[in-house]
Amino acid sequence: MCYKHQFYGIMSHRCVQMTPTLRCNQRCLFCWRSFEHEVHEEEECSPEEILAGIPGLQKRALSGYKVSPYVTDERFSEAMDPKHIAISLSGEPTLYEPLPALIDLFNSHGYTTFLVSNGTRPDVLDKCRAFQLYVSLDAPDKETYIRLCRPSGDTWESVQESLGLLGSKRSAIRITLVAGMNDSNPMGFGRLVGDSGAKYVEVKGYMYLGYSRKRLDRRSMPEHSHVRSFAERVAAASGYRIRDESPLSRVVLLERGEA
Ligand code: SF4
Repeated sequence: MCYKHQFYGIMSHRCVQMTPTLRCNQRCLFCWRSFEHEVHEEEECSPEEILAGIPGLQKRALSGYKVSPYVTDERFSEAMDPKHIAISLSGEPTLYEPLPALIDLFNSHGYTTFLVSNGTRPDVLDKCRAFQLYVSLDAPDKETYIRLCRPSGDTWESVQESLGLLGSKRSAIRITLVAGMNDSNPMGFGRLVGDSGAKYVEVKGYMYLGYSRKRLDRRSMPEHSHVRSFAERVAAASGYRIRDESPLSRVVLLERGEA
């Protein structure tokens, strides 16, 4: 189980991680995907094709676990019948035009959906009825955002607009903390969080993984103690409270206080 089980009760072995597009309009330094082998053209599948493809592809992705001594038969067969879909892997999902229809289709087939977005397309997010919506907030100000997330357009205001949608949905803000890059202004993050109305905030340490290793140093990965003390200061500045934490995943969960 990953920390989403601990925080939200998600059964990790029944959760499909997927993306409807590999394209992205940001080039975050901490992203694990490759910018060096970027996809420039892709053919969009319809929501129905994506839904139909999931069982077979999930089976293929997990097939090696069948022979693992750590996986019981019962858990393996449960994993073949997924219940959750995390639209979050690589690429910005709102660049897939039929995203709202895809989520509605998943919902109508009984899946719970987590949607993770960089927040640059609030018009699309507003139409999405995901079980839980995540918007990334990786900078307390525009200058840090441009330096760290390297957007292809002027999208800082759009991210702010997306944060403004969160009060009306079950929602979370994801802060990826990168040591030496965006960890000096917890008050600034706290102000944006406090104004957002999001139910949850995850303050998560950057992980030195994938292609991000070509752009950042191992020392960019903050210790859990640093993530925790940063999260405490964001909480103090925003009026949120610390709800839970997972030192192994270097993540701290904040929750909005009841008014
Ligand atoms: S927004 Fe997400 S997918 Fe896009 S570059 Fe940043 S981390 Fe990677």
